[in-house]
Amino acid sequence: MNIPFSPPDITEREIELVSEVLRSGWVTTGPKTKEFEKKLAEYVGTEKFVCLGSATAAMEMTLRLLGVGPGDEVIVPAYTYTASCSVICHVGAKPVIVDISKDSFEMDYDALDEYINEHTKAIIPVDLGGAVCDFDKIYSCVERNKDKFVPSNEIQKAFGRIVIMSDCAHGFGAERNGVKTGNFADFTCYSFHAVKNLTTVEGGAVTWRNIEGFDNEEIYRQYMNLSLHGQTKDALNKNKAGAWEYDIVSPAYKCNMTDLQGAIGLAQLERYERMLNRRKTIINRYNSVLDGYNVTYLKHKTEEYTSSGHLYLMHVNDIDEAERNNIINRFAEKGVATNVHYKPLPMLTAYKNLGYDIKDFPNAFNYYKNEITLPLYSKMTDEELDYVVSVIEEVLKEYKK
Ligand SMILES: *Cc1c(COP(=O)(O)O)cnc(C)c1O
Repeated sequence: MNIPFSPPDITEREIELVSEVLRSGWVTTGPKTKEFEKKLAEYVGTEKFVCLGSATAAMEMTLRLLGVGPGDEVIVPAYTYTASCSVICHVGAKPVIVDISKDSFEMDYDALDEYINEHTKAIIPVDLGGAVCDFDKIYSCVERNKDKFVPSNEIQKAFGRIVIMSDCAHGFGAERNGVKTGNFADFTCYSFHAVKNLTTVEGGAVTWRNIEGFDNEEIYRQYMNLSLHGQTKDALNKNKAGAWEYDIVSPAYKCNMTDLQGAIGLAQLERYERMLNRRKTIINRYNSVLDGYNVTYLKHKTEEYTSSGHLYLMHVNDIDEAERNNIINRFAEKGVATNVHYKPLPMLTAYKNLGYDIKDFPNAFNYYKNEITLPLYSKMTDEELDYVVSVIEEVLKEYKK
């Protein structure tokens, strides 16, 4: 048997909706994208959503909307994908990479004060694998450091503190105390990339909490401007007979979502609860099997949160990188694709070149060195699941409790 790591869950319904769009005569940003935005907001329980070309674009445009740029600093954990950090570089600000706390997927928010100064404009927590960050602690951290915050524009003034922009690429549909992600951070950015829980092939979205003194429609318009050349009219409105006139208010960017993507997203959203439930079943099975081994795994359900079940991260206790890589190869020999989430940022050339050294990030390194991510996808059949479990039992037999 061959078990892929995370194939997309595409049905005839997606194909049907995409075909409709292709036949409709309007294929780029238009009614389907707008409808998808509306449905996303209903699902999450926020007022507005903006759909863009990727989570990376959503994060970058949010930093731009906030006016974060050269001279500013943004805090990001070492244990994440490059996109959480590269967007800080894109806007010309300085990434401040912080270690995670011991045996945790999160930064130690109680100990962040030493990284915060008058240049700090934002913090980017990451909901790893769909497990939701401790936003109570993050808010108390930014409140506690309010005195250090120096706003440089109107929107920063409205916040009067460091802005929390969540990299929630994994966490669509995850909950904390019964409330969905999107309602915690000031801005929450999701990914709909092909490997994510809900996919539009490529795509992303951002939602935000109401900001005092700022109209949500105005914020929405600003995102539209930023993501579509700074043009005062989108393509659909410009396309109307006689409505050619437009202005360009800034030399902005181009990262809009197309209606083809919006249509795929709508089809995915229709059955998203079922997709989440399938993930939960698989996770529970993995948990109960792995409880018999010398391993630890990322918790997908705690008293505080219920994750979106995006990634199954497990750690084989007391092994080094070489042994971990060996185990990965043995899974591969049996046709089971696994992965490592993540190689910490300070181990990557781009961030080494910025002066970061993994030696200063012992917790991230320890979380990484023995980590293996098991295949997890909503389309996984019972037979495939049984097969993966049998391979786990075979490959990990010397690590049995
Ligand atoms: C996938 C991913 C992203 C990037 O998402 P795109 O939609 O591909 O831009 C960002 N952060 C994390 C943690 C991710 O896993």
